[in-house]
Amino acid sequence: MMLDYHSLLLALGFSSACLMVTLFGTWFSRRTDSFLLTLVIALAFTVSGIGVYSAYTVNAGLVGAGLSYVLMMTGFAIIYAASVQFRLGGQPWRRAASIAAVSIGIGLPPIAGGLDGLGFIVMNLGMAGLLMGTAYQYWLARAESPGPLSGMVILYALSGLSFALCALALVQDGRLSLGHAPDNWAENLNLGVCIAGMTGIGALSLALHQWRIAAHHRIEAMTDPLTGLMNRRALFDGHGHLAVTASTAVVVFDIDRFKTINDEHGHAAGDMVLKIFASDLTLELGGRKTAARLGGEEFVLILDEVMPGRAERIANDVRRRFAARDIDIDGKILRCTVSAGVAVGLPGGQPFESVLNIADQALYEAKRSGRNRVELAGHLRAIVANDSRTSA
Ligand code: GH3
Ligand code: MG
Ligand code: MG
Repeated sequence: MMLDYHSLLLALGFSSACLMVTLFGTWFSRRTDSFLLTLVIALAFTVSGIGVYSAYTVNAGLVGAGLSYVLMMTGFAIIYAASVQFRLGGQPWRRAASIAAVSIGIGLPPIAGGLDGLGFIVMNLGMAGLLMGTAYQYWLARAESPGPLSGMVILYALSGLSFALCALALVQDGRLSLGHAPDNWAENLNLGVCIAGMTGIGALSLALHQWRIAAHHRIEAMTDPLTGLMNRRALFDGHGHLAVTASTAVVVFDIDRFKTINDEHGHAAGDMVLKIFASDLTLELGGRKTAARLGGEEFVLILDEVMPGRAERIANDVRRRFAARDIDIDGKILRCTVSAGVAVGLPGGQPFESVLNIADQALYEAKRSGRNRVELAGHLRAIVANDSRTSA
């Protein structure tokens, strides 16, 4: 029985060490700030703890009991801190250190005083608590990637439960002083659960890491880095295949004489102007609007459920607000203007790209008529004029 337990313990130590190397390799290949490295360090403590504990099961002594207690509690404190880091970001070390310090402060004195039975009860309860806490953290984070995270929650909770059962078996046994490693049904169950749980948690942690990287790249590929708006690709991915109806307006903006701004004040000043315009564009962005940077100093606003006249007013609001802005370039005040073209789709729907072209033609008209103005696409002018006559 004891030999069985001992070889299972070695198996757990060995597979934990392998997992540690795998996680380290994954972290090392990118070296982004990551909870994986925290888990690697947690595993380093845990594997050492398992090693010491394994020697202790063969050759009992207070030093072995105390040292494995310290290593295990530290490892599990870091596992918990890694879960908080996964959910909220930030550094895990302060949290890990204080949890480890508290649990060592509670559990080490009884072990040192010969009450190893009591010490092991504290240790099992502490580990159960930390694993349940870890499960809770991943549960709170589950929206990010429900499948793998639910798996993590279940595995951490089951492992935690198996440690709680170890504490229960020791309490039932009732001896405060054991003089050797606990050996009961709960210990054997616990070891089996830990081997399965650790392997599963390891695989899921890797999967989560990859999922995060992929999600990050997806967002990056869709975002204009300068302004944070959607880029052209994201716009066409989201709208390119949709038919634009008469109740959706496409407004194209182009900053006036932007080349001159670059030439006279420098590229950095130009970039600042772009950022300021982008923030103006998103100022009143509600659920039914989409803003994107088409490229260069060209932007597009898509307004759903609007009449052409209202789209024109919104475009004019953006234009006026931007023109009134004092842009501070190294203490010098700069004023910029923008022109816009507005188009809507056909009642039966029209390809996005063709509506965008019509809006572009209207923009060209706005430029030709002197800039700092909003122009409606030709076929809309009569409609809007008619609307305002009837409402007047
Ligand atoms: P118009 O009033 O007719 O629109 O004149 P314009 O000078 O704004 O038009 P043009 O399209 O000739 O100039 C666009 C300039 O935008 C040219 C290019 O160097 C500059 N540009 C494009 N992308 C960026 C960018 O990311 N940052 C900066 N600072 N400039 C950019
Ligand atoms: Mg321009
Ligand atoms: Mg341009």
